[in-house]
Amino acid sequence: MFTAFLIKYAEIGVKGRNRYMFENALVDQIRFALDKVEGEFALRKTQGRIYVDAVSDFDFDETVDALKKVFGISGICPVVYVEDEGFEKLSETIVDYVKKVYPEGNKTFKVCARRARKNYPMDSMSINCELGGVILDHFPEMKVDVHNPDFEFSVEIREKIYIYSETIPGQGGMPVGTGGKAMLLLSGGIDSPVAGYMISKRGVKLEAVYFHAPPYTSERAKQKVVDLAKYVSVYSGPMKLHVINFTDIQLAIYEKCPHDELTIIMRRYMMRIAETIAKETECLGLVTGESIGQVASQTMQSLISTNEVCELPVYRPLIAFDKQDIVDISEKINTYETSIQPFEDCCTIFVAKHPVTKPNAKVIRGHEKNLDDVIDELVKTALETREIIEIE
Ligand code: ATP
Ligand code: MG
Repeated sequence: MFTAFLIKYAEIGVKGRNRYMFENALVDQIRFALDKVEGEFALRKTQGRIYVDAVSDFDFDETVDALKKVFGISGICPVVYVEDEGFEKLSETIVDYVKKVYPEGNKTFKVCARRARKNYPMDSMSINCELGGVILDHFPEMKVDVHNPDFEFSVEIREKIYIYSETIPGQGGMPVGTGGKAMLLLSGGIDSPVAGYMISKRGVKLEAVYFHAPPYTSERAKQKVVDLAKYVSVYSGPMKLHVINFTDIQLAIYEKCPHDELTIIMRRYMMRIAETIAKETECLGLVTGESIGQVASQTMQSLISTNEVCELPVYRPLIAFDKQDIVDISEKINTYETSIQPFEDCCTIFVAKHPVTKPNAKVIRGHEKNLDDVIDELVKTALETREIIEIE
């Protein structure tokens, strides 16, 4: 019965020239999301609205599901079109509509007509009254309530007449691409995919980097990260995943630096390498899944130490989140089951029994000097030999 969707979006902050950018980005993202859905769709922007018209048979649930994952959409209204063939036809359609959408019938409603086409022979007020009357005649259990109705039937008179009453909540946020691009440090854990999802929700496009350490970390650990990137890209759109072979750097750190500082020094090299790729790929910041106090390398002292090696801002959307709240989001975005698969990521192999929790930046810098002879070459090789995987 539904042949189209009216897409509602929050309009705050999207005035003037920004509005075009916002709408165009939203249309792009909707197109990307619907590419994966069976059926053909045409997208239309008119008068501050976006319509998705089905131009072939389509699966309603699958389509709504795809639209629900697009950032920037606040609500999705399934629409029925009627040709303007007189009031009689319009009345029949709305009766049909009520029968199908509200079979229980015992609801309160109001009709809210809008004429985008002023040459329609009735004004909005009379359409409201007449159609309201028609509904009451056919559904004696229904009642009109103009102040606080269960349902509001919107009837828009345009070229055709559009009827809708339901709004399915969308993701909210901003369309991906309106907020620049950031480099996500994506591990196989629970946190970083959630961090990527959250920053992307603010309109930020993602690029990702994963550090692996074969043979200490397996091919399956890498596959897990690829899978996670795919889940995130359902929301964030396609991204490139840079896979860095980190083994030789880790071994060098292991050999030349105090073991209680391994994690922190390793994390500093991850940040440096991530930043190099970020600058190359026009990213405006780095994103991690860190949260204060979660592990030794995430105390505020440790964060100073990982922060000081990069110039770009490091965004940490989860910084004040409890683990359970992060888990809740990861379940919602479908990454949880993959994140908990038990494959070692590179950090767990080389961790010390008692890592420093309050690293002194000066001391760390001193110990990093032990790497001076080899590190530049190792970093260069790691960058040159990286694998880039296109995540669609
Ligand atoms: P996560 O659940 O995201 O793995 P975590 O709680 O295990 O996080 P750490 O291992 O300390 O925390 O890592 C902190 C952050 O550093 C991660 O959220 C991620 O952004 C980044 N990171 C850690 N290991 C890697 C890796 N192998 N490749 C890419 N980024 C990583
Ligand atoms: Mg981890």
